[in-house]
Amino acid sequence: MYAALTLAKAGKKVILLEKEEVTGGLARGHKRGENFYDLGCHMLHAFDKEVFETIKGIMGDERIEVPLNATIKWAGAFYRYPLQFGDMVKGMPKIMLIRCSVGLLFYQFLNKINPKEPQNAEEALIQLYGKPLYRFFFKDFTENYWGFPTTELSATFITTKMPRLSAVDVIKKVLGKFGVKEKEGGAVESALSEETLHYSRNGAEGMARCLAGEIEKLGCRVITNAEVCGIHREGDRITAVSYRDARKGEGAEEHEISCDEVISTIPIHDFVKASGELAPDEVREAADQLRTKPIAVYGLLVNKEKAINSLYIYYRSRCFHRVGEPKNAGLTVRPADHTVLIVETTCEVGDEKWNGDQSFIDKIAADLADEGICTKEEIVETHVLRTKHGYPVFDLGFEPHLQAVQDFVLSLENVRSVGRQGGFCYPNMHSAMRMGADAADEILKQEAGLSS
Ligand SMILES: Cc1cc2nc3c(=O)[nH]c(=O)nc-3n(C[C@H](O)[C@H](O)[C@H](O)COP(=O)(O)OP(=O)(O)OC[C@H]3O[C@@H](n4cnc5c(N)ncnc54)[C@H](O)[C@@H]3O)c2cc1C
Repeated sequence: MYAALTLAKAGKKVILLEKEEVTGGLARGHKRGENFYDLGCHMLHAFDKEVFETIKGIMGDERIEVPLNATIKWAGAFYRYPLQFGDMVKGMPKIMLIRCSVGLLFYQFLNKINPKEPQNAEEALIQLYGKPLYRFFFKDFTENYWGFPTTELSATFITTKMPRLSAVDVIKKVLGKFGVKEKEGGAVESALSEETLHYSRNGAEGMARCLAGEIEKLGCRVITNAEVCGIHREGDRITAVSYRDARKGEGAEEHEISCDEVISTIPIHDFVKASGELAPDEVREAADQLRTKPIAVYGLLVNKEKAINSLYIYYRSRCFHRVGEPKNAGLTVRPADHTVLIVETTCEVGDEKWNGDQSFIDKIAADLADEGICTKEEIVETHVLRTKHGYPVFDLGFEPHLQAVQDFVLSLENVRSVGRQGGFCYPNMHSAMRMGADAADEILKQEAGLSS
């Protein structure tokens, strides 16, 4: 959408094709009954100044500011998220703290005298944090989240996605004073613990709606329920894109739109599929190997004024991994003396979480009651929101498959595949919008170069 906006502002004729009934992708609002539910609370970070200023201008009074206030339940108590060093020390049994510190120190020295490329996520985590801390903190959580062992997850995931535990940064700084330096690119910097986020009274719905409205105001078309199902190629250029009514599915009448340039934010492996015979067999086989982890998010309307004391809480040993209460960020809830809870889980298509089976709803209710968040009787509505494309899976050996698929897309002169699904990566909204803006700018520069 941000790519479309950038091009529309430059006076280009843009057609935006969206498979769903409303725009916004993962970051759209879902109206159920009288309320809006996010697919996992979606709040905008202001890290990209230009993107932020644009969104601020478009949203006007609809934008509300929210101080970050997230917690994690760990070792039986609540701590600020991301976990701080002092909190970790408080939460960890002393003997375990000593073992973890010694383990961290030992692996730092080991990596220094015998540096090795980690072969999987387990090895990468042990290299970064040492074996005791890996076993104590990371192993179970990572495996529950992904549904498979850390030995089957690529080391790339640790270096490009996983926020670094800030406590470890402190220990490493101390070690640094004694000449023990970490190798470059070890892990993503730890997330900020103090920040202002941006939201709307309708939750994520506000930003996506305002963006679509702005694109249309600039004279461009937004076509919803339009599933891209084919591309047409002449030499190394795409000359047209086909779409059909997503509600009717395969066999529905196809519409063809001719185009000069394509910016694709659909899953990169789906783009290959839409290319059909145009993609070589080995590229289609590589595309079949790329997976995304589905998510099922439970939106609950709860007959209670307020349920938790933060925007969201992370859990390590419940049937969900995060519970958000967007009312605490300013979401309007109807009736006003009720609240909305957003309960996040990772799943597989067709399992009890995905299907919204009563057995799983009962587990959620039991875990929420155990946590003192709400009782089963207080839950008055339950809505299941789901997507197949929650998280790109960086499983062992995914890199060459992704490379083959990306090389194919790069071989097409006028296609740019960007965003979370198009880039098979983990940007937040502002970074996904930056990817869109950069793709649009490239097109504009290329065109200016051709005409000068
Ligand atoms: C649980 C969760 C919570 C998050 N919370 C935050 C947060 O608080 N703050 C933040 O900044 N980021 C957050 N994110 C990240 C955020 O969702 C992404 O950065 C953002 O949605 C990426 O946008 P995108 O356009 O690249 O991809 P997507 O949002 O995935 O959009 C892709 C679009 O392509 C459409 N599409 C797919 N196939 C086709 C097809 N064949 N034809 C036509 N259209 C198609 C989809 O319907 C969708 O609209 C969160 C992500 C998750 C999973």
